[in-house]
Amino acid sequence: MSLTTRAPSPFAASSANGNCPHDLVLRSSDNVDFHVHKTVLFLNTPKSFHTVDDPASQSNASEASDNLHAGLPVARVKEPSAVLRRLLLLCYPQPIPSSAIDVLDHIHLVYRAAHAYNMRRVCDIIRSTLLSRIDADPYRVFAVACSLTLPDTARAAAVGTLKNPNALCSGEYEVSEFSLISGLCLTALCRFRNQCVHASCVAVDRHRYVANCPSDEATAAFGDLCWWSTKGHSRGCGATVAGTGRDCTLKSTGWFKLHMARVYDAVRDTPCSTAAAAAVLDYTACLPCISRCNLCVADAPKQLQVLAGILRTDVDAQVHTVAERWRF
Ligand SMILES: [Zn+2]
Ligand SMILES: [Zn+2]
Repeated sequence: MSLTTRAPSPFAASSANGNCPHDLVLRSSDNVDFHVHKTVLFLNTPKSFHTVDDPASQSNASEASDNLHAGLPVARVKEPSAVLRRLLLLCYPQPIPSSAIDVLDHIHLVYRAAHAYNMRRVCDIIRSTLLSRIDADPYRVFAVACSLTLPDTARAAAVGTLKNPNALCSGEYEVSEFSLISGLCLTALCRFRNQCVHASCVAVDRHRYVANCPSDEATAAFGDLCWWSTKGHSRGCGATVAGTGRDCTLKSTGWFKLHMARVYDAVRDTPCSTAAAAAVLDYTACLPCISRCNLCVADAPKQLQVLAGILRTDVDAQVHTVAERWRF
């Protein structure tokens, strides 16, 4: 009696593969037999598998009605069947239907196995898979990449986590892959986020305050944005100049000041360029004020569009600068 079980398709011993018969059995650590082709393994790994003629497989086959694979050499491997199956699927040319499986499940073990067998192509595929999953699962990819010491992937995933509001400590983003990494990796992620918040807030602040007006280059940089203009507004609207000489400062029109305070809060919560741009474009709360001024009605919507684009670029650049300094 055999204590082994057969792996499901496409690694089962089956007459469906009669035109290209399996010539090797890989037996997982939990005794599942995977019927494979030596050539496919040879194309993926320089390592050879030490085989033994397996008496169990021979006696089993003689009893079974299906004896196509009788007497195949058997190689024991140390991977469990769940990992071996994923590894072998990546070795074969047909793509895995990604909808059918959770591609991140066990992926760190599959990568370690691929690395141990020196399967470069498979390692490349797994690294691309991790990158492609950052949008959907940044915390899981971060943890997996940290555990595998893939610093570039970990950094990209850390940037990917920024698009979520800050709730890491609430456990909202807790993923099982956190068990793969140390507390140091998680606190590093928190510190990285804090630095990105600070840098993004700096980017917002550049558009909130203008000092030393009116000849100063900062004023010139803002050009003719309506909220920085002292002229042409209806009564009660428009930028104002306070002080004289070197102490002179320009203050933006009231609705813009309140609006940028909300943008600042949004970026402090979610330090990413998408959140920054969305906050700039969400100016419904300002509409009552804007609608009372002909200049602002005419100019504010399109100029806020411009500001959203500028801030998107600025926040991206700030986050990029912070991320470059990190190695997770
Ligand atoms: Zn902020
Ligand atoms: Zn106005």
